[in-house]
Amino acid sequence: MEDCLFCKIISGDIPSNKVYEDELVYAFTDIDPQAPVHILIIPKKHIESILKVQDGDFQYVDAMVKAAQKIAAEKGIAQDGFRIVFNTGENGGQTVHHLHLHLLGGRYMEWPPG
Ligand code: 5GP
Ligand code: ZN
Repeated sequence: MEDCLFCKIISGDIPSNKVYEDELVYAFTDIDPQAPVHILIIPKKHIESILKVQDGDFQYVDAMVKAAQKIAAEKGIAQDGFRIVFNTGENGGQTVHHLHLHLLGGRYMEWPPG
């Protein structure tokens, strides 16, 4: 997708602070962190949102969750806990239309969210 910000981050056209990468996913720090640890985990395939994950694409979702486990352990937030979030659509607060999993930790997360 030519005009997608996160596709450009994957290709390296837009710089990012890489945290983790494998065959299926790429992870980097959020430019506007909402917690001491705030990382975005994205599939290397352009998928608009969790609603658009089709048969055959669920391997990306698996890989995103596995990456969240690994990164949480590496960042030292696994024990105390963390939050992973798929913002979806307008009411969900999704602003970038390339699937991404927010990994937030390093502080207590309020519930319900705002
Ligand atoms: P959403 O609101 O769609 O769930 O999350 C999009 C996230 O992408 C936001 O947390 C925002 O701060 C982050 N973001 C937007 N543009 C950039 C960018 O150019 N670089 C990085 N690292 N993060 C970005
Ligand atoms: Zn994209």
